[in-house]
Amino acid sequence: MSATAQIPVTLQGVSRHFSLPGGATVRALDDVTLAIAGGAAVALAGPSGSGKSTLLYCVGGIEAVDSGQIVVGDEEITGLSAKRLTAYRRRIGLVFQRSNLLPALTALDNVMAPVLPYRTDFDKRERARSLLEAVGLEGREASLPSRMSGGEQQRVAIARALINDPGLILADEPTGALDSATGSTIVDVLLDLRDRHGVTVIIATHDEGVAGRCDRTMRLRDGRLLDQGA
Ligand code: ADP
Ligand code: MG
Repeated sequence: MSATAQIPVTLQGVSRHFSLPGGATVRALDDVTLAIAGGAAVALAGPSGSGKSTLLYCVGGIEAVDSGQIVVGDEEITGLSAKRLTAYRRRIGLVFQRSNLLPALTALDNVMAPVLPYRTDFDKRERARSLLEAVGLEGREASLPSRMSGGEQQRVAIARALINDPGLILADEPTGALDSATGSTIVDVLLDLRDRHGVTVIIATHDEGVAGRCDRTMRLRDGRLLDQGA
């Protein structure tokens, strides 16, 4: 995996509201302003429904904001055309609570899957192999997901998220489906990526143990940022 430029993330007055049937409005994000340095590993904490996932999806360019600006690296993603946004999304690594691996594909093929339709300037198979090694799964290239533990499957998902050499990883409750010891090894993998490659990592979690291992913890409640933890 190549070294990556350190990518800072800033949000300025970001709001995202949802209208519910019946006319009520949910303020999923309410005027959130924050700054994350490039190469930082930051936890995003808060109870269920506090806006963690919405924040990650807005930063990942999956969810649009209603107002405010998000700048990732040198790009203001809240102003991108649909085409540029698609290109931007490919440069972000996303990890979810469930690994969502394709059950019929081997670990190696799952890691390569996001880039299979594209021409790349790297050897897909070689990159996938080295990413599996980087997450501690050397020798498991040919394993099917059904033959791997939950923690191993989540490692494959992290390797898959890295196939485009992202400078930013957004992990939404990545340990939420794992026991705490296994979850801890997943946090090890994410922090190690930050240490070795300078990747910026944002981990949404309601596990204080996970949050405590990050550089700092930002806290959300009812869509509002309570604390940047700086
Ligand atoms: P968290 O990840 O912290 O649990 P979310 O970002 O998923 O919180 O949700 C924040 C709030 O926004 C919740 O009240 C949730 O119900 C609401 N919400 C999120 N997405 C939608 C949506 N697509 N439509 C309506 N409400 C939504
Ligand atoms: Mg969530």
